[in-house]
Amino acid sequence: MAVSDHVDFAGFMEGVKRRNPHQPEFVQAVQEVAEDIFDFIADKEAYHSEQILRRMAEPDRVISFRVCWEDDNGCIRVQRGWRVQNNNAIGPYKGGIRFHTSVNESVLKFLAFEQTFKNALTGLPMGGGKGGSNFNPKGKSEREIMRFCQSFMTELYRHIGADIDVPAGDIGVGGREIGYMFGQYKRITNQFSGVLTGKGLEYGGSLIRTEATGYGAVYFLQNMLATRDTSIEGKTAVISGSGNVATHAAEKIVHLGGKVLTLSDSGGFIYDPDGIDLEKIAWVKTHKTHRRGRIEEYVEAFPNAQFHACMTPWNVSCDVALPCATQNELLGEDARTLVKNGCMAVSEGANMPTDLEGVHVFKHARILYAPGKAANAGGVAVSGLEMSQNSLRRSWSEEELQVMLKEIMEGIHSRCLTHGRQSIDYVDYVKGANIAGFKKVADAMLAFGVV
Ligand code: NDP
Repeated sequence: MAVSDHVDFAGFMEGVKRRNPHQPEFVQAVQEVAEDIFDFIADKEAYHSEQILRRMAEPDRVISFRVCWEDDNGCIRVQRGWRVQNNNAIGPYKGGIRFHTSVNESVLKFLAFEQTFKNALTGLPMGGGKGGSNFNPKGKSEREIMRFCQSFMTELYRHIGADIDVPAGDIGVGGREIGYMFGQYKRITNQFSGVLTGKGLEYGGSLIRTEATGYGAVYFLQNMLATRDTSIEGKTAVISGSGNVATHAAEKIVHLGGKVLTLSDSGGFIYDPDGIDLEKIAWVKTHKTHRRGRIEEYVEAFPNAQFHACMTPWNVSCDVALPCATQNELLGEDARTLVKNGCMAVSEGANMPTDLEGVHVFKHARILYAPGKAANAGGVAVSGLEMSQNSLRRSWSEEELQVMLKEIMEGIHSRCLTHGRQSIDYVDYVKGANIAGFKKVADAMLAFGVV
């Protein structure tokens, strides 16, 4: 292509769709970024001539492998595992591992692409990656989970390393699974290194890593509300999910004087008009994480609450909303309902929970809307701090880490303001996050030449 022969947005997206057939989540994630980047690079020749966005939208590599394991009945089970290494221009690949039946190459490619921008936004030296398997941990025994994690790592270990690619947890992968995978990595390589984050405190983990994504999403919300001279105190919040991110977001909302009305899981949502306080959140954590229960059982413990099967919580009136479950859980119609009911801010704890139509609804309504790549970056930021602590072979205190997390979230917020302010009273946080993340990675790629 001649230097001046720029491909336009429509042509670019046509190519992305053609090269990635049957990968709707990946195409959606690229489109959301490209919508902003095409405007930004319109007058920046180097980004065009070096095909930077096109290169970012092609993962460095996608590794796919068989994971065999034996269940408690002695039957051999076969799953598929992946690691998508999207971009390591500014640091080792970094991103979580997801175990869920919905995992496929499209989902992991979208997550690795998003992660590249998110990690750049944190200001820490981390590239973007993501991995996982279509393994379903629900209903599996401890031993089955352990055997699966060991088998998964038996292949993954050859592709990762403290300076190569540093995975963490995500949906279906918490401290227990990280422990099993770290144990297997150490056994195979005979190395004790910071190859995974989200580790237990006894073997190199960081304080506040578990809380960081949910707390960070609320800190980001706080920063956004401050631009309109208001705060979380006295506000009602609707939250989806009941896992790690959702319960910690709920906890921080309560700490800051807000009232949490809902939580959910894949079976439906609960609405508690009295508010889900710290004691109830602790019940949910134990019930969902340790007892592996369903959220619908909340109404047996707290009878004033109601359970709505097979529904998401977006029709409950609220001041602020935090989608913290999974991708595409908040659709265009849900976004319109939230706006109609007076919701003034949305902070995404999950990755790409709002579909493209919903994003456009929030932007059009000019509400405070933070995309996951900005709002949920607190988790990977503390993972970055865990990597630093592992390299230094020392640990920082909880107070030190809380300060660093808050500062990082403030830094992300101000980077979004730099590139996303549209007028005195409106910031397009999606645009701000996309451009700030893109610019950092793109400039590093320019320095490397065509590789
Ligand atoms: P968990 O596994 O702890 O919890 C996931 C929650 O989402 C559960 O309540 C689960 O319900 C629900 N859920 C999962 N899939 C679906 C679905 N298809 N429909 C409805 N509900 C669903 O995961 P996390 O809390 O760690 O992750 C939640 C989101 O946050 C994900 O998008 C993840 O990528 C993102 N994220 C997580 C980070 C982290 O540090 N953990 C960092 C940054 C982003 P059920 O129990 O029924 O499956």
